[in-house]
Amino acid sequence: MQSEKQTVLDQQIIQDSARQFAQTHILPYVMEWDEAQTFPMDLMHQLGEHGFMGILIPEEYGGSGLGYQEYITILTEISKVCGSIGLSVAAHNSLCTNHIYTFGNEEQRQRWVTRLATGEWVGAWGLTEPNTGSDAMRMQCIAEKDGDHYVLNGTKCWITHGKSGHVAVVIARTGELLDSHGMTAFVVERGTPGFKAGKKENKLGMRASETTEMIFEDCRIPASNILGKEGDGFIQSMKILDGGRISIGSLGLGIAKGAYEASVKYSQERHQFGKPISSFQAISFKLADMATKIEAAEMLLRKAADLKNAGKNSTKLSAMGKYYASEISVQIANDAVQIFGGYGYTKDFPVEKFYRDSKLCTIGEGTSEIQKIVIAREILKDF
Ligand SMILES: Cc1cc2nc3c(=O)[nH]c(=O)nc-3n(C[C@H](O)[C@H](O)[C@H](O)COP(=O)(O)OP(=O)(O)OC[C@H]3O[C@@H](n4cnc5c(N)ncnc54)[C@H](O)[C@@H]3O)c2cc1C
Repeated sequence: MQSEKQTVLDQQIIQDSARQFAQTHILPYVMEWDEAQTFPMDLMHQLGEHGFMGILIPEEYGGSGLGYQEYITILTEISKVCGSIGLSVAAHNSLCTNHIYTFGNEEQRQRWVTRLATGEWVGAWGLTEPNTGSDAMRMQCIAEKDGDHYVLNGTKCWITHGKSGHVAVVIARTGELLDSHGMTAFVVERGTPGFKAGKKENKLGMRASETTEMIFEDCRIPASNILGKEGDGFIQSMKILDGGRISIGSLGLGIAKGAYEASVKYSQERHQFGKPISSFQAISFKLADMATKIEAAEMLLRKAADLKNAGKNSTKLSAMGKYYASEISVQIANDAVQIFGGYGYTKDFPVEKFYRDSKLCTIGEGTSEIQKIVIAREILKDF
């Protein structure tokens, strides 16, 4: 068994490695990618070479074999520099790759996970539809059985890597409306006839993370591409989202840390009335609030991660971590722009991008309102 000292040392090495990667391979291009809405596919392969595309996947399938604590550390370090890349890494790791690894059979793991975990392939995950976001059980994308195939018809929207992803996990209806056992998860490879990407979204933030529609028109999928059994897709998705919430929480935490660190530095450099602005209580109290919120968010996320690592139910803690880290991310990015004054309102300083990127965290993978529904349900169940 590893000693506590060794574990701390390993965590430090992983943090340094993610930080170094972000500084070298992401920071110099952040604004260029953001302005042009470029999704940097080459970077995804580089992330894979550094072990960041299969963080939770065992080494025998090409992954890094790490746990949720390291996952939080890596995502936070990347998101401190660029939320868009953090979002792409989160969606690839915890949604697509983790879904296939967790619910796929050995043949499916060998076929897809080994490519995804090394970053050779990039993955997408499609649950949301134009008319069903929070209310995913009412999905209208249909998969009808036809011999040893299923025929998929419908549209998924807001899908991260919906165009460039090499493979997607798609949840479609195979049973009755509102039956939690009426949906099934399919793996669909790019290039399958009847599957194409639709509109690419022009977004407020997270602009270097590709978000598109996925359109299915009489798309024939072999039954062997089903993950688990027919009817398992919705229940599987809810389990995958428990982990996904830790990753969006970590994304929010990273953005918050980036905005906070920039604010501490700037407030000591910027002088007004003959003093650094950090000496004004109005500013230093903002810094104190930021630091406190960051510590609290990290504690929540790390507690959820401990539960996940131990294979225990993390629904309540994951939702709390996601909800809190997302909300404080928006608050901290907002305060950061205020601390930077007029300069914060320009693209010459990083805080305007943190401000734009942070908002996604309160929406993606379950809005803050939905997190509160989940938390309330879990609390009330316990009494
Ligand atoms: C950049 C980006 C990337 C994304 N990537 C993916 C992806 O890879 N895969 C994927 O499947 N999806 C993805 N999504 C979709 C995302 O998960 C949904 O946008 C989200 O779940 C919310 O759904 P909606 O947008 O339809 O909002 P709606 O569900 O229409 O909600 C609108 C508002 O109503 C509130 N609301 C809804 N129901 C209730 C209720 N019962 N009680 C109280 N308030 C409620 C919501 O909180 C929200 O404020 C992405 C979204 C974005 C913006």
